[in-house]
Amino acid sequence: MKSKSLRIDILTIFPGMIEPYVTSSILGRAQKEKRLVIKAHDLRKWTSDKHQKVDDRPFGGGPGMVMKVEPFDRALKSLKIGKRTRVILTSAKGKVFDQRAAKRLAKYDRLIFLCGRYEGVDERVAEHLADEELSIGNYVMTGGELAALVMSDAVARLRPGVLGTSESLAMESHSEIGVLEYPQYTRPGIYPLSKKKSWKVPSILLSGDHKKIQEWRRKKSKDSLITPFLGATL
Ligand code: SAM
Repeated sequence: MKSKSLRIDILTIFPGMIEPYVTSSILGRAQKEKRLVIKAHDLRKWTSDKHQKVDDRPFGGGPGMVMKVEPFDRALKSLKIGKRTRVILTSAKGKVFDQRAAKRLAKYDRLIFLCGRYEGVDERVAEHLADEELSIGNYVMTGGELAALVMSDAVARLRPGVLGTSESLAMESHSEIGVLEYPQYTRPGIYPLSKKKSWKVPSILLSGDHKKIQEWRRKKSKDSLITPFLGATL
């Protein structure tokens, strides 16, 4: 039986940034196969003035503009949120997203990402509308669109049937907490740089000895253990 598809809604003032990515490659294929639906919505649709204003000056003064509550509130009301839905505010102040968070979010039927711009979003969005605030790393970007795409991609590929048989979830980085994948190589075995110099693939991988190859891979994975594992707090 085919499992239920995951629906992702991304609320943004730049919906055109989202479509090219989510209609390409694996996400595009998964959407065609109806395993996934990713839709970008223009927040300006939910403004009520003729200039479609989504931002205003911060109370208390300070530089820049802050995104208003109203478009987010009206958008969420019109999207009719069901039970197994998680509303996520993209934010440089949020908890840092990691593979454990991706696994947790992959259990929902629907995810709604709220993308900020300018100096950020009126705090009442975090207080009353979002279920959680997530950051994709400790740096500041100009908007939440890349964050929404990063998280959508990492979550979507964990859903049944999204990856094809040739792409595997097993034994990859972070499939076990703190463990990274072993190094991978492909043809040619010797990449010539000059008459005297070349880059060689570790000879064990060309040996045909599968037991030894497994041992080598396990050792390489262990050598790359992340310590301390910073992402384990979410
Ligand atoms: N003034 C805010 C601060 O200091 O935290 C930064 C606002 S940032 C210029 C505008 C928007 O980009 C944010 O509201 C958020 O939606 C998004 N954003 C920026 N950095 C992010 C990050 N690391 N993770 C997730 N979203 C981020």
